[in-house]
Amino acid sequence: MNNLRFKALDFINTRSAKKSTPPTGKLSEYYGTLTFNKRAMREFLPVDAFANIINAIESNEKIDRKMADQIAASMKAWAISHGASHYTHWFHPLTGSTAEKHDSFMHPIEEGRAIERFNGSELIQQEPDASSFPSGGIRSTFEARGYTAWDPSSPAFIIDDTLCIPTIFVSYTGEALDFKTPLLKSLNVIGKSAVEFCRLFGNEVKKVTPTLGIEQEYFLVDSALHAARPDLALTGRTVFGHASAKDQQLSDHYFGTIQERALEFMKDVEIESYKLGIPLKTRHNEVAPNQFECAPVFEEVNLAVDHNQMLMHLMQRIARHHDLVVLLHEKPFAGVNGSGKHNNWSMMTDTGENLLSPGKTPKAKLRFIAFFVTVLKAISNNPDLLRASIAAAGNDHRLGGHEAPPAIISAFIGEQLSKTLDEIEETGGITKAATFDNNIFIPKIPEIFLDNTDRNRTSPFAFTGNKFEFRAVGSSATCAKPMIVLNLMVADQLIKFKDEVDILIKKKFKRNDAILKVIRQYIIDSKKIRFEGNNYSDEWIKEAKKRGLANITSTPPALKAYITKETIDLFERNNILTAKELEARYQINLENYTKKIQIESRVMGDLAKNHIIPIAIRYQNTLIENTLGLKQVLDEKTYVGLSRNQIQTIKDISEHISQVKMKTDEMLEERKIANRIEDGELKAKAYNEKVVPYFEEIRRHVDKLELLVDDELWPLPKYRELLFLR
Ligand code: ADP
Ligand code: MG
Repeated sequence: MNNLRFKALDFINTRSAKKSTPPTGKLSEYYGTLTFNKRAMREFLPVDAFANIINAIESNEKIDRKMADQIAASMKAWAISHGASHYTHWFHPLTGSTAEKHDSFMHPIEEGRAIERFNGSELIQQEPDASSFPSGGIRSTFEARGYTAWDPSSPAFIIDDTLCIPTIFVSYTGEALDFKTPLLKSLNVIGKSAVEFCRLFGNEVKKVTPTLGIEQEYFLVDSALHAARPDLALTGRTVFGHASAKDQQLSDHYFGTIQERALEFMKDVEIESYKLGIPLKTRHNEVAPNQFECAPVFEEVNLAVDHNQMLMHLMQRIARHHDLVVLLHEKPFAGVNGSGKHNNWSMMTDTGENLLSPGKTPKAKLRFIAFFVTVLKAISNNPDLLRASIAAAGNDHRLGGHEAPPAIISAFIGEQLSKTLDEIEETGGITKAATFDNNIFIPKIPEIFLDNTDRNRTSPFAFTGNKFEFRAVGSSATCAKPMIVLNLMVADQLIKFKDEVDILIKKKFKRNDAILKVIRQYIIDSKKIRFEGNNYSDEWIKEAKKRGLANITSTPPALKAYITKETIDLFERNNILTAKELEARYQINLENYTKKIQIESRVMGDLAKNHIIPIAIRYQNTLIENTLGLKQVLDEKTYVGLSRNQIQTIKDISEHISQVKMKTDEMLEERKIANRIEDGELKAKAYNEKVVPYFEEIRRHVDKLELLVDDELWPLPKYRELLFLR
């Protein structure tokens, strides 16, 4: 029999763990060796060129052509010394993944010889034929010109034989066609506004940088089983599959001993990450069987985002060496936990202070509270935009799934801070006691004790002691999307905070009184998004509704927040993206949603009609033959008694087959109607409202058939086989 499932199962019985291949030497010796980091620059660049580039990177200044030539020459020498033969501009198009087009260093010269060549202009700017990248209508394919430009703030790196140069990607008319451009702009705005903000508190800092630590969840499945599941291969998730009798109910996987094949895979991922300077720190089993997590030490946001993109790529490649496949989808398996990507976010000054660390001195405490409530106020002004930044077809399955935060944006701040904010709200922070510190009037901020166990795992946006953790981000997403939005909304609010304080000071308020007054107002304004209870509960859904918080459970309506007047104003007044660019992104996101659902729906139709129904019929025939045979050998009375169950099973199978057939046909009709719709928004809406509802219905009948049909015939690897590594 040509059953791929059994072939795969036979195959994996022969599996044994493939050992990881550590390089010789300690990790500190190979860490970062494949990145053109400061150490490599110092080694390969002339002294003055080195000083120039470091200065340019640190102060965000332009690198001139002469310097670029010098850097290119040394980058080439360095890359060749590490076996590179090609280079590429590595960028983040609006597909959400990364793109690269390799060029050889080879340059033919006379007499049939060649040299390695790579000059400053090749480093600084390239013009890839980018006609097939999504532009959301900004640029039609016949005028496909876009160019990539070097981002010196993220070090070049080598993967395989190729020097990868992180770049932005913009059209010739100046519109951003990628995620890095608006991300860098948002980082610039928040950095500047945070410096101004710190000055309000008398801190002479030169630079403030947002920091990000990304926890990455994922599943591993055996590659042979993966190959026998067309749905996993084409959509990244199982569209059918009955629950395994045992999956995560005993919580015996979470933080358990890591299965050997998985561990060897992780070791290799870490080794390759270290060479690329990705500071992976933790690894552990997650809640669902075969679900894992890794997290690096936090870094500057731009670097953290690049590193996460590189990490996802590395994981997928390295898994193959271990006969595994990494599933980055937000919900590969129904009924067990999905995967997210917690974004731990804070801000760091060049003097080494974390703006979300409640300081010891009264001054530091005041700054902390001010920054903290500014973030809350920013979120409470733009919850729908934050929600939009994590909207995607895959994440729709996860949010609100009783394992992940709901689609309602709220913030958890813990008991201590709640008390503190309540006290300031009531008293204005000044009535209790005023203290004098170096003769400067410092209002009394209540003592802040932070208890690290004071945690709420159900909140989408939780304060965890010295950072906020945005937990609603999907596991396959680029963190650039939520980071652009978060940085921007906080930057904008920081600017407003300072303006509001300045106005009060002009009205003759003392500085600290003015600051407290604004703080108090922000506490009041942001109260509606503070929620300390269980975000998974139905009570919260009701309560949130009362508070007027949106609960947008699917992507197309969630995306709308990208093109509201408030959003456009926010992006435009800070020069991050124009209305046109936002509209383009909106359209791209809608199209991406539509296509993903379309693919899933097709895969479902194909599996149902060409795999499931024929097998169910085959089994049904066996039962029918058997019943007919019984009738021949048994007397009428015994036959009637004994065949009842069998006939019932035949009826049940018929019923499920007919439902599957009927529903897939209906779904196809809905798809046809949706496909005729031109307008991107209406099309996505049709897919969301008319096609998606069939997924559950069809699945229910297929999963029932899985329980009825002979295991020997069932064509798709079952959950119990997919979810446990051998
Ligand atoms: P948990 O699972 O308890 O949330 P993890 O240790 O898995 O914690 O992840 C916490 C993440 O937060 C790490 O990536 C860590 O580096 C990051 N982090 C810690 N401090 C900061 C900070 N100040 N800014 C940004 N990220 C931070
Ligand atoms: Mg976490």
